[in-house]
Amino acid sequence: IDEKFDAIVVGAGMAGNGAAYTLAKRGLKVLQLERGEYSGSKNVQGAILYSDMLEKIIPDFREDAPLERHLVEQRFWMMDDRSHVGLHYRSEDFNEEAPNRYTIIRAQFDKWFSGKVREAGALVVCETTVTELVQDAYGKVIGVKTDRGGGQIHADVVVLAEGVSGLLGTRAGLRKIPKPTDVALAVKEMHFLPQETIEDRFLLKGDEGVVIEAAGTISEGMTGMGFIYTNKECISLGIGCLVSDFQKTGRSPYQLLETFKQHPSVAPLIAGSEVKEYAAHLIPEGGYKAIPQLFGDGWVVVGDAAQLNNAIHREGSNLAMTSGRIAAEAIFQVKSRKEPMTAQNLSLYKTLLEQSFIIKDLKKYKDMPQLLHIQSQNFFLTYPQLVSKAMQNFVRVDGTPKIEKEKMTLKSFTSARSWAGLFGDAFRLARAWR
Ligand code: FAD
Repeated sequence: IDEKFDAIVVGAGMAGNGAAYTLAKRGLKVLQLERGEYSGSKNVQGAILYSDMLEKIIPDFREDAPLERHLVEQRFWMMDDRSHVGLHYRSEDFNEEAPNRYTIIRAQFDKWFSGKVREAGALVVCETTVTELVQDAYGKVIGVKTDRGGGQIHADVVVLAEGVSGLLGTRAGLRKIPKPTDVALAVKEMHFLPQETIEDRFLLKGDEGVVIEAAGTISEGMTGMGFIYTNKECISLGIGCLVSDFQKTGRSPYQLLETFKQHPSVAPLIAGSEVKEYAAHLIPEGGYKAIPQLFGDGWVVVGDAAQLNNAIHREGSNLAMTSGRIAAEAIFQVKSRKEPMTAQNLSLYKTLLEQSFIIKDLKKYKDMPQLLHIQSQNFFLTYPQLVSKAMQNFVRVDGTPKIEKEKMTLKSFTSARSWAGLFGDAFRLARAWR
């Protein structure tokens, strides 16, 4: 490719597509490069799609986007080895005209999104890995090189949307490789079942859906969570923990997944299913403190590559597509003013990001990743076991006077954590959450 582009977008995931679509819609000349056979072929997600953020990019997406089920119920499970204590929220309000959240299958969804990027006018080239960022003598990024050879491709700005394991930015010294405490490794399976079976098991009708987020002894004291999401004809099920915890314990994500599937609360939901797909992927979980430099001369970084992921709320794709959109808006504004893509001008991206929910949310939880990491044994092992025991003690009717039961429950907590430990944990959690 000999021509020069206004922008090159590296990667066609949620962030890259959000950026490329917005740039092309604004009339910029855009080249998007994706290493996968097609957009989505390499991407992994649970996956919940948050409508609001996609509506801001493609308002009428519901007309033809491949959506699975709209969510009417969310369950949070705190698990021990044989039980779960649940908080379930189901509302008829979610059966609204324009539903708020859907389950999706990324391979299909990204393909659709990529089609929209092409329709908007961007040149999308797949099966092409960007191997190097081209910098001028002053370090300004002026283009890329790919594994197809053919020399350099030039652009005013390069949008790095290469995902959490992207190496381009790190190789060029623009950001560091994420620390093992800042990334989780997640594994996921797709369990196929007849549609009616899924609807019966989860009490659903039509295209209603349920998601279950699960934490507790399933992660064996490591910082991590499991999930179960309903699609039309399959259930996505997975689990992920911090890479540093896997390194420390020597456990593998596959072992955790097997245990999760065999849990008495989970096994009946997937009984008789056929597993057709298996995937593993990293998730950035370092939060606000792990966000790298977001812009420089001739470049911006968006989505997972920029650690823009809210692990507390299990939100990633919405931050990815929104950061892509915001980066594109910033680039468009600089371009409209006919100014160069210098670090100073591109700092507008960071300013806009700070005004958005992305940085506000990540800042709110800035101390949570460290707390969950340091206290993982307590939060993911001790407390789930204690809460489960307390609930069983509460509901089991065995002639023990209730006052005795309350004393037993209190004693189980204080002997496991002591009064100081309990108050300390509550204080630390409240402080990190606020
Ligand atoms: P990616 O989607 O990873 O896309 C990066 C793209 O760049 C890929 O297509 C890749 O092939 C391409 N690429 C990389 N390097 C190069 C290169 N050198 N040249 C060319 N192309 C390149 N988020 C949610 O909102 N809801 C969920 O339910 C949810 N569940 C999740 C469950 C799991 C198991 C995982 C792993 C993640 C989940 N997430 C969820 C997070 C979400 O998937 C990510 O936040 C989101 O995919 C990030 O988008 P991205 O575009 O930044 O990166």
